[in-house]
Amino acid sequence: MTNVYIISAPSGSGKSTLVNSVRKIIPGLDFSISYTTRPPRGDEQNGREYFFVQRAEFEQMLRNDEFLEHAEVFGNCYGTARRFLREAEQRGHDLLLDIDVQGAEQIKRKITDAVSIFILPPNRQELETRLRHRSLDAENVIQTRLVTATREIENYAKYDYILVNDRLEDSIEALKSILLAERLNRSGDRNSAAAADTLARAECWRLSNVRERLQPILASFVPEGAMDTKRK
Ligand code: ADP
Ligand code: 5GP
Repeated sequence: MTNVYIISAPSGSGKSTLVNSVRKIIPGLDFSISYTTRPPRGDEQNGREYFFVQRAEFEQMLRNDEFLEHAEVFGNCYGTARRFLREAEQRGHDLLLDIDVQGAEQIKRKITDAVSIFILPPNRQELETRLRHRSLDAENVIQTRLVTATREIENYAKYDYILVNDRLEDSIEALKSILLAERLNRSGDRNSAAAADTLARAECWRLSNVRERLQPILASFVPEGAMDTKRK
């Protein structure tokens, strides 16, 4: 049976970096390439990062009921084509979806056992640094992304796992453990020492086990003075 994994994160958290890394090391994992009406960025290529389409084509796909989910993000339309799930099922592979919070909610309603993972940066300052280092966006876009990040982060508790992307190598290992642990849970093949180790590593990132660790990260996104105003 196909496991569906949803990954969401504020832009700049390192989601693409992590997803690209685990795709190379986990066999049998398909990646859904979304359709979007936004123009390509940097060296993005049609059919690699996204299928770039005009709004009319997107709307025609919507009318044809070709999307499993779709949403408007930063003024552009994004959607996951149903065919990616169909093809993963035919191949007996799992499927990874890189989608936003609205899309994650739609998928969870349709595929109740989909596993959702939210990636967080270690703090707001580091997110800003990463957005700048990536040097893909103009300054006003970076500012918009930071404001949006604060709003997106409020949704973290809707996800099954929260992964704080601090040291990259550790985060790749953590994401790998989560994906493999969910496979073990489904297969029931949990008895070996290796399986126990993977399950334990994944468990560290389950929502109920990270709540305390998240407090300083969440606090770094609250504008200065807002906490005092809230307390009054
Ligand atoms: P997203 O897909 O979430 O928008 P990216 O994967 O493009 O983010 O990462 C944003 C920037 O941060 C990139 O320049 C990337 O190389 C860098 N980055 C990703 N993960 C880390 C990390 N753990 N530590 C430092 N830099 C990172
Ligand atoms: P970007 O334009 O930076 O690549 O992506 C912007 C946001 O759109 C990200 O949060 C990304 O996860 C989300 N996104 C990408 N593809 C899809 C999709 O097919 N559906 C939904 N709902 N969101 C998507």
